[in-house]
Amino acid sequence: MEPAVIDVTIERTEYAAITFDDGLVCTFGVSELRAACPCATCRGWRERGEIAWPRAGQSDVISIRDAEFAGAWGMSISWSDGHDTGIYAWAALRRWWQAGRNEPLTEEA
Ligand SMILES: [Zn+2]
Repeated sequence: MEPAVIDVTIERTEYAAITFDDGLVCTFGVSELRAACPCATCRGWRERGEIAWPRAGQSDVISIRDAEFAGAWGMSISWSDGHDTGIYAWAALRRWWQAGRNEPLTEEA
């Protein structure tokens, strides 16, 4: 069984920290989370070898405007630049964290 999320702490301009019930705490900076947005649009850009964020002319200053649980399996984040289509699955965030965040984040739980 996948470890369950027991706490999510969001510091809008800085980070999101996710605590799992086995004690693992994964802390992601807002910029790396925004850049790794797993939505279909951002994935498409990455698949074409482009950077999903910041796009040309976009500010690289970002913050979390709002975050909402997406059922029991993740959260959707609304960003200060208006982007809000990414759903960040807990299991995917955990795998990403444990893999050293070298590979793109996926949306699969
Ligand atoms: Zn996206």
